[in-house]
Amino acid sequence: MFRTLASARARLPAFNRNATAALALARPATVAALHQHHQRTTPTSPPPPQHGKNVTSTRYFSTSTSVLAASPPVTFDHETFTEEFLSHVKDVPNATDPAQSSAILRRLVKTGVLKFTDMEDAPEKFFLAHRLLSTIGLGGFGVRFTVQFNLFAGSIIGLASDPQRAMLDEIQEKGQLGCFLLTEMQAGVLSGLIVETTADWCPEQQQFILHTPNDAAAKNWISQGYTAELGVVIADLRVAGVSHGPHAFFMQLRDTETMELMDGIRIEDMGDKTVANDLDNARVWFDKVKLPKAALLNKFADIQDDAYVQVGEERMRIEVIGQRLMTGRQAIAEAALIAARVLHMKTEEYAVRKTCNGLDGERSLSSMPQLRAVLDESYAELDEMMAFTAGVEDRLNTCLREGTIPDADLVDAIAVCKIRCIDVAVQRVHKLRLEVGSYALMHGTGFELVDMFLCCKFAEGDSRILQQKLTRDRLKAVAKGGAGAAVAAAVFDAEARTALLLASKLKPAGRDLKKMAVAMDENWRSIYGLAELIEERHIRDGVKGQFIEPVVERLVPASLEFDSDWKEKI
Ligand SMILES: Cc1cc2nc3c(=O)[nH]c(=O)nc-3n(C[C@H](O)[C@H](O)[C@H](O)COP(=O)(O)OP(=O)(O)OC[C@H]3O[C@@H](n4cnc5c(N)ncnc54)[C@H](O)[C@@H]3O)c2cc1C
Repeated sequence: MFRTLASARARLPAFNRNATAALALARPATVAALHQHHQRTTPTSPPPPQHGKNVTSTRYFSTSTSVLAASPPVTFDHETFTEEFLSHVKDVPNATDPAQSSAILRRLVKTGVLKFTDMEDAPEKFFLAHRLLSTIGLGGFGVRFTVQFNLFAGSIIGLASDPQRAMLDEIQEKGQLGCFLLTEMQAGVLSGLIVETTADWCPEQQQFILHTPNDAAAKNWISQGYTAELGVVIADLRVAGVSHGPHAFFMQLRDTETMELMDGIRIEDMGDKTVANDLDNARVWFDKVKLPKAALLNKFADIQDDAYVQVGEERMRIEVIGQRLMTGRQAIAEAALIAARVLHMKTEEYAVRKTCNGLDGERSLSSMPQLRAVLDESYAELDEMMAFTAGVEDRLNTCLREGTIPDADLVDAIAVCKIRCIDVAVQRVHKLRLEVGSYALMHGTGFELVDMFLCCKFAEGDSRILQQKLTRDRLKAVAKGGAGAAVAAAVFDAEARTALLLASKLKPAGRDLKKMAVAMDENWRSIYGLAELIEERHIRDGVKGQFIEPVVERLVPASLEFDSDWKEKI
């Protein structure tokens, strides 16, 4: 195992290599079994407001200080789409286990209200769907949905050749479900940078052999692992013993008739979670599973005459696979923002009607200055992020429509959305819950779903890893620009100054990994501090936009029970 880890380490960018020692020790803890059946309780204070009536006011959706992006014309009626989409997901809050939840997704896929290909043809619709799910409650279905539409189907859209893409129509018509198998137990938040699962080309059989070489390489946390019949798996493609790095393979996980796992595939439940138990998450092992030649998604690379060949101009690399994570990052950032905002809206409505006692008699909770301050600051911060994020989405939508790869600045801006939207959502929701008394403890308030924000933090690019990347790229720019330019820029600019100082502290380590690891640990605050300055620059200078829909609070109380015997129902 040490040998394989060492080779995986060699593929890591230098900046991340120091983390591998910690990774060698990392083993995901199974979440302790939680209460499987809870008592149903309802808030004793005012009844929950009517769903659908709490709409954001323009007061809080301010982009007045920003340059607005010229948004491309939206080619669909978003009100009709909203109505239709919401009608198909109306049962989500009651679908409390993976069997019910996956059945809803199958039906939704079949309706074609959102097509897999909308990611390219009507990307605004794709992102809107993610935001709409947040308005009814960001739960496990949101993850299931984005895995299906973005990671699974999106990978086929992005990485398959035209003939292979044709399969999407059939998958949609049949309402089939697909996993995205990237993360490995050993890799954790560095998923994609460490891929030890192998896919060996076998010339004799003219097929690939997919294999999990050790337990640490088992695919981990795979959403829909118990319910999907299909998957896109990322494995190190090897031809004649030569590694060509991570590639994507389409595969059948289960027999579509019997839903039995295919030969050589073993799964294990990740266990009960604090939230989102309507989503099944599996650890998956492959024991010399045979995949046909056509399984390799071959837009960028293929096997010809038993040799590995590059197809077209672009070389296949993890960044190409990462394009799917880019749309996912954007979608998750938006979903977290909207979830935080509707939670504030619902709580504010409660606070207006909730009576407290002051020195001079009764008053509403919402009139308390500390809560008012939290609400005002939250709306201001959330709306600032919405304007920035909508502007970034506009830029990304252009790339999706045109089939182009986002440039470095856009990639950074998307990372900033992911880091900051989730951070703002987590911080503001926490501040809010501290000021509303017992209400924040109650089910049906929306606070029961707050752990979903944590899930957003490490999914599709962990915030810390993204921050490291922002800093690494900034330091590269310092090195490329030369010392003279860096010193000149540092005179007037705090970001340039911090970058120059940090570069000087890390420079003595050179290419010595051990020294670099020590230097990075010693300077960790500066590393994340520089990332924060970069984030602030993007938010300050980025072109702003507006989402196409008003924010409507439709939070439906998440069910308090889930059937622990759900596997029997699949
Ligand atoms: C509900 C759910 C659904 C998921 N669905 C899928 C899926 O469908 N497909 C899939 O492929 N994956 C999936 N994942 C995996 C997910 O995308 C992450 O890759 C995974 O959760 C990260 O591993 P970990 O949580 O064990 O974190 P760890 O890697 O153990 O990290 C723990 C903490 O340490 C920090 N840390 C770790 N390494 C470093 C480092 N080098 N530098 C700085 N900080 C570090 C992190 O910030 C984090 O806070 C899912 C995860 C969850 C929870």
